[in-house]
Amino acid sequence: MKQLVVISGKGGTGKTVMTGALSALAQNSVMADCDVDAADLHLLLAPEIKERHEFRSGVTACTDLSKCTGCGMCRDLCRFDAVNEDYSIDPVSCEGCAFCSFACPAGAIEMKENVSGEWFVSDTRFGPLVHARLGIAEENSGKLVALVRKKAKEIAEKNEAGWVIIDGSPGIGCPVIASLSGVDMALVVTEPTLSGLHDADRVIQVAKHFGVLVVLVINKYDLNHEMAGKIEEYCRQNGIKCIGKIPFDTSVVNAVVEGKTIPEYTGTKIKNTVAEIWAKIQANVI
Ligand code: SF4
Ligand code: SF4
Repeated sequence: MKQLVVISGKGGTGKTVMTGALSALAQNSVMADCDVDAADLHLLLAPEIKERHEFRSGVTACTDLSKCTGCGMCRDLCRFDAVNEDYSIDPVSCEGCAFCSFACPAGAIEMKENVSGEWFVSDTRFGPLVHARLGIAEENSGKLVALVRKKAKEIAEKNEAGWVIIDGSPGIGCPVIASLSGVDMALVVTEPTLSGLHDADRVIQVAKHFGVLVVLVINKYDLNHEMAGKIEEYCRQNGIKCIGKIPFDTSVVNAVVEGKTIPEYTGTKIKNTVAEIWAKIQANVI
């Protein structure tokens, strides 16, 4: 079983459209949507949720007012002004340091685990999908990404699937590191702009740091031939294989609106290009 992550360094390069297309082309795969802050792979895969679980992360103080003697120590100690006048706790301000809980002479403050999101196991027309939703303003998306990856791998092993195809997190922070670690290949999807090259370079450096094999695809390459050429030159200089150049195609938007992946959509001129990219991924993965 091989693990492939599709990443971009930033949003809006066509990463999720590419992940959907590869999910349609791969036979016997499990998908993982690791873009947990703004998950949208489900829009293409139309999952039918089979399992729903709470994601717990971090703790918040909670006062049992029936035990509180009103000594005021917690209010004096809290550096985040999270203790209200009646000694209840404001959960938004509480940073979960537990100082008040240790200090309370009445033992009235308990630290409670936060429910900061949900994760799901679903059926799709291409195979199982593990996906998640992080609560608004919640943190620890790296931990949730790691959980989604772990579950997808477990299902793939149980089903004897050939591939885990991962829609990676954007950026270069903790979530993308959790998306990348231990995969067999990272496919970087970029666009022919200076910022596209800059963002791709940053995420490629992260992937290389973790020893991940990287290949690259230039999406909408014909919108700027000069910049596409510079990205190809960058690839040559950095030992990265550029395994595909996808032309701009307005029908991709129509496909997305209809909830279809590129291989399923009749009338798109990039179907063959995407199939060739999938063939090259299979040929190059170690
Ligand atoms: S430290 Fe404990 S007893 Fe004192 S005010 Fe706070 S919750 Fe109440
Ligand atoms: S856990 Fe820390 S941040 Fe939260 S109320 Fe207690 S002292 Fe303040």
